[in-house]
Amino acid sequence: MHDVIVIGVGGMGSAAAYHLAARGARVLALEQFDIPHELGSSHGESRIIRLAYWEHPDYVPLVRRAYDLWRELEIAAGERLLVVTGGIDAGDAASPNIIGVRDACRRFELRHEEFDGASLSARCPGYRLPPDIVAILQPDGGFLLPERCVVAHTEGARRAGADVHMRERVLGWETVAGGVRVRTDRDEYAAARLVLTAGAWTASLAGETVPLLTPERQVMLWTEPLRPDYFRTDRFPVFYIQVAEGPFYGFPIHAVPGMKIGKYHHTHEAVDPDTMDRRCHAEDEAVLRECLRRYFPDANGPTVDMKTCLFTNTRDEHFIIDLLEDDPRVAIAAGFSGHGFKFCSVVGEILADLALDGGTRHDISLFRMKRLVS
Ligand SMILES: Cc1cc2nc3c(=O)[nH]c(=O)nc-3n(C[C@H](O)[C@H](O)[C@H](O)COP(=O)(O)OP(=O)(O)OC[C@H]3O[C@@H](n4cnc5c(N)ncnc54)[C@H](O)[C@@H]3O)c2cc1C
Repeated sequence: MHDVIVIGVGGMGSAAAYHLAARGARVLALEQFDIPHELGSSHGESRIIRLAYWEHPDYVPLVRRAYDLWRELEIAAGERLLVVTGGIDAGDAASPNIIGVRDACRRFELRHEEFDGASLSARCPGYRLPPDIVAILQPDGGFLLPERCVVAHTEGARRAGADVHMRERVLGWETVAGGVRVRTDRDEYAAARLVLTAGAWTASLAGETVPLLTPERQVMLWTEPLRPDYFRTDRFPVFYIQVAEGPFYGFPIHAVPGMKIGKYHHTHEAVDPDTMDRRCHAEDEAVLRECLRRYFPDANGPTVDMKTCLFTNTRDEHFIIDLLEDDPRVAIAAGFSGHGFKFCSVVGEILADLALDGGTRHDISLFRMKRLVS
């Protein structure tokens, strides 16, 4: 008998297993694929982390705690997981990211500098944004190495005594007197509590979230820059830009010989994670090349790689982190809507709080499930 079973060992589940095991809980963590793998949401070499959160001010204290926990994990794992490059948010003065970043910087007294298109290019020559754009540089921005973070959390959980099973798919679970029972394609297990961190597969495991979550196909493109010196980690901050063609994000050259770009929500293609098209097509590339051609022309060289990935969206694009209303023995973290990875470390801590103590000192009122049930 375990104290807690964690279903899904991706970004969030590996962090939950880590924090639960560190607190002495007997943990069983079950993953249907390998750890790490490329079929969920936590792969592709890089994920942006930024303090100046424009989506809602409630995220800023959480991301601050996340930074501290990532640094602690780096020490425990003995490897670098977070690369600080600075982060650019750009858009016209009325766009939600610029209004929100200015607000976050003011409220939380965050270090930042503002540029227009020309002064940004003078500082960071890889950028060729329109002259009248507002660009805000936040020096704490940067990126995490998602596969390494998942492995570091998993290895740390194991060192603290967690049992982690790979290639074992959970088929179902039920609450019973005294706890929960979980059935997999190999066995059956019992525990006092359950943590559900199944990413894009959450709806198939937690019936009540079905109407609340939409998995969505995404595409990442790596290109070989024509001027690689402009796209080094010390010269090219990560970015999120709102331009006429839509919202795009990107990274300097790291781990593979290419800079990386993606379009937030890509082509708005809702999918089933078990049947989605994982190949990348010329039409996918065209969506991303359009942005490179216009705003990062010195990165618009040969293709290095393309990969698909999955967002799991809620209606308001805020997360779900909660206990199930009709069964508080089950904690759930899902619906990270394309911006969750940076929070994995702190979500792991919160899930351990919820599973072991039934509550948390962190303010998670924004993430309650019932806001989505109308
Ligand atoms: C292209 C792309 C770019 C992104 N960019 C950023 C960014 O820059 N910054 C940022 O903060 N966030 C970003 N995100 C979002 C972030 O990566 C996700 O929010 C985060 O990875 C979600 O983690 P998760 O643990 O919920 O999902 P996952 O990491 O996918 O984990 C879920 C796990 O559950 C397992 N599982 C599911 N069902 C079962 C079952 N029945 N039995 C056993 N195991 C099961 C899955 O195999 C999977 O391993 C991006 C996402 C994508 C796709």
